[in-house]
Amino acid sequence: MCGGDNKDECHISNGHLPAKFGLLAINTVSAVDYTITNRATGTAGGVRFNTDIGVDYSKQTLAFAIDFIWRTFHQTNAYSINNEIHVSDSHIGSYSGDVKTEIIGVLYHEMTHIWQWNGNGQAPGGLIEGIADFVRLKANYAPGHRVQPGQGDKCDQGYDVTARFLDYCNGLRNGFVAELNKKTRTGYSAQYFVDLLWKTVDQLWADYKARYGQ
Ligand SMILES: [Zn+2]
Repeated sequence: MCGGDNKDECHISNGHLPAKFGLLAINTVSAVDYTITNRATGTAGGVRFNTDIGVDYSKQTLAFAIDFIWRTFHQTNAYSINNEIHVSDSHIGSYSGDVKTEIIGVLYHEMTHIWQWNGNGQAPGGLIEGIADFVRLKANYAPGHRVQPGQGDKCDQGYDVTARFLDYCNGLRNGFVAELNKKTRTGYSAQYFVDLLWKTVDQLWADYKARYGQ
C-alpha cells in the first residue's frame, strides 16, 4: 500500500466487521467500527494531524469514503476484512500543500484496497493501484500536481496514470471500473477489457493517447 511506509506512526484500523453482512449495513456505515489512533503525537506530523485533520474528521471521512467506494463498485455486500491503514506522520509533516485534501485522498485510496478484488493475486499491481486512485479521483481528492489525462507511458503504470486511463475507459462504458472489479474477484485476464469494451487494452491505451494528443 502506498499511504506511507512508516508503520509505527498515525494508525487507523477497522474493528469488528462481520465476515459478511446484509443490505441494511450498506447504508449504515456506522455499523463498521473504526478506531483511529495517532501514534505520533510527539512528532511534527502528529501535531499537524491533530491541528489540521484530527481524529473526528478522519472518522467522518472514513464513513464517507466507505459509502463512496461501495457505490463506485456497485457493491451489495462486503467480505471479511481485517486491515489496518497506516499514514506516515513524516508524510503529513513534510507535505507541501493542502494536507487535509492529501490525507483524505490517501484514506480513499487505502480504503478502496480493503474492498477491491485482486484477481486472487493475479491482477497487475499497477491496475490495483490505478483502481484505488480512480476512486480517489472520482471522489475529487486527486492532488492538483498529479498527471493529466493522456499522460503516462503504459496503461498499468499504476496510480494516477492508470486512474486517468480507467476514467477514460469508464467514459466509454459507464460502470466499467465496477464491472472490471467484479470480474477480478476470482482471477484476472486482460481479456476482461475486450469483454467489456470490445477492444484490447493495448488498443484502448493507443486510443486514449490519441484522444488526448499524447
Ligand atoms: Zn495503494
